[in-house]
Amino acid sequence: MPCKNCKEKPVITLTNSNVKLCRVHFIKYFERKVMHTIGKYKLLDKEDNVGVALSGGKDSMTIAYLLNEIRKKRKNFKLQAILIDEGIKGYRSKTVIDAKKFCKEHKIPLKIFSYKKEIGSTLDIMLSKTHKKPCSVCGVFRRYLLNMKSRELGFNKLATGHNLDDEAQSILMNQLRSNPEVSARLGPITGIQDNKDFVRRIKPLYLLTEKETATYAFLRKFPVTFTECPNAKQGYRDDVRTLLNQFEKKYPGSKHAMVNAFLETLPALKQHFQDTSEIRSCKICQEPTSKEICQACTLQQELHLK
Ligand code: SF4
Repeated sequence: MPCKNCKEKPVITLTNSNVKLCRVHFIKYFERKVMHTIGKYKLLDKEDNVGVALSGGKDSMTIAYLLNEIRKKRKNFKLQAILIDEGIKGYRSKTVIDAKKFCKEHKIPLKIFSYKKEIGSTLDIMLSKTHKKPCSVCGVFRRYLLNMKSRELGFNKLATGHNLDDEAQSILMNQLRSNPEVSARLGPITGIQDNKDFVRRIKPLYLLTEKETATYAFLRKFPVTFTECPNAKQGYRDDVRTLLNQFEKKYPGSKHAMVNAFLETLPALKQHFQDTSEIRSCKICQEPTSKEICQACTLQQELHLK
């Protein structure tokens, strides 16, 4: 069967609708959907100073590319990429090369910060000293550095490459772990309250699937090597991802249905958890936290880095 809109050969079948699209019509569909997400959830303002959390993977390159296209048309809109190098042998060094190549080609300023310099050790060394799961250690420092460095660089928003699959996984993980408060921080624009110390995260790929994003990155010929973090398979998220993919295969459209249903309940969830999280400054590093000492400083102490 040809493309739904012309006689060309299709490059993708959309899982949610079974619609087939050729290269040209798929790119149009994808870009329109990103712009629709940005407009519907008011993710951008004309004079924003946006940072893009670049990993060197398909999702973050896609969003960096599309936001850069917007920047070209808006005089006072600023964009810069930020990359966190965790120090994961055989993985991050490759994606850093891809990210640098991409930023050079598209003239996007790139700032790189490493765990080694900022936290005091590479992730590989930290993991050799603890039995904690890699992603639970990595995630704490990643969120910490992304927020701190985004604020220091003057970004008022930080765009991430989270797609619909990522969000569906997060929703299910929070359900399975009985973490509704964490779910209240999800959505196309994160955060449950405005706080000058927290840079709000925006997810313009929120309504696009992993498959659609990978197809877009491939068609746009982004320099992605599709390398996977060697720790990814050890995470809880990976099991949830496998489960959701199996379910989606059997019942197409399930991920969309799940995220759409979640969006219906999100305003009430945000409202409910609005007052419970008092934000203060960490006694050690002065970064924003809901506890006396932030998670990053606590973990640094546990790993004898402080
Ligand atoms: Fe860090 Fe886990 Fe992501 Fe690897 S998969 S970069 S360890 S959060």
